[in-house]
Amino acid sequence: MSNENQKPTAQNESAQDTDKVSPFLTEPLPQGTPQGQQQSLQQQLTDTPVSGSVPKYNLPRGANTGNVGATTHFGYQTVSSEDKAQKVAEVFHSVASKYDIMNDLMSFGIHRLWKRFAINMSGVRRGQRVLDIAGGTGDLAKVFSREVGPTGHVVLSDINESMLNVGRDRLIDAGCTNVDFVLANAETLEPFEDNSFDLLTISFGLRNVTDKDAALAAMYRVLKPGGRLLILEFSKPVFEPFSKLYDLYSFTALPIMGKIVANDSESYKYLAESIRMHPDQRTLKGMMENAGFQNTDYHNLTGGIVAVHRGFKL
Ligand code: SAM
Repeated sequence: MSNENQKPTAQNESAQDTDKVSPFLTEPLPQGTPQGQQQSLQQQLTDTPVSGSVPKYNLPRGANTGNVGATTHFGYQTVSSEDKAQKVAEVFHSVASKYDIMNDLMSFGIHRLWKRFAINMSGVRRGQRVLDIAGGTGDLAKVFSREVGPTGHVVLSDINESMLNVGRDRLIDAGCTNVDFVLANAETLEPFEDNSFDLLTISFGLRNVTDKDAALAAMYRVLKPGGRLLILEFSKPVFEPFSKLYDLYSFTALPIMGKIVANDSESYKYLAESIRMHPDQRTLKGMMENAGFQNTDYHNLTGGIVAVHRGFKL
């Protein structure tokens, strides 16, 4: 299934980060802290996965609203750029506990194949450092944890505590001891140092990010030279009649399923709308190139419903 036609550089090949002391296992993170720190192990083990009110997410310090301006879109609504992050936070806070089951239902389990395809394109190896951005409930991080082994290191990061709590509980239960869990906004990736990861992934996360150009720039910053970025995201179906059927499914069935399973039709209406508002394959490839990524390409999956974009920092 993989189209692994680009080999990593020698620099990436030799990346064997054996640093066992996590920079994130230091300070406790109080509930509601918006970004940038790691919860203590004690808190990790005692916190209730999804509870309380929706934490407030501010636009990150130094975020370049650049192409976004004062207003942006939240699905089909026009909202102020500052409000979008909060609205997205509310969506994922609301769906967190039902997120995994809804994914299986909505995609008939096909999201697992899409993720497997992306993992196959990752070229991940033992000893590497991997950052899964907007990683939510940790599907990719769980696999990477096994692939990088005890000498490697995986960071599961997300802006949303509710989603990250579900992912953290799941990965701790699965015995993933080489994973850290870090609240971080993709637009800045503020907790992470420059040139610090061999592989970055963002799966079904980018379309929710307000300033995608800022996020791509941050990704370029934290990636090591020779490292690779993979973006798995909904995209534009390539076959028009198929597109009509897909629209019908997205705008009718998804909100109904959301209502029945998660008691939340609005979040699933947002899902359908946000997919339509996301840049198409070529536009996203161009945005990656603008951010500095090289040898970029993309692979359509399921007729372009989803695409995996790949780029390198050389
Ligand atoms: N990556 C997981 C997967 O493939 O199943 C979760 C994807 S879920 C559809 C989207 C995730 O993006 C949510 O967990 C949400 O909290 C996160 N997210 C939204 N905006 C973000 C941002 N600005 N920075 C980091 N994560 C963000």
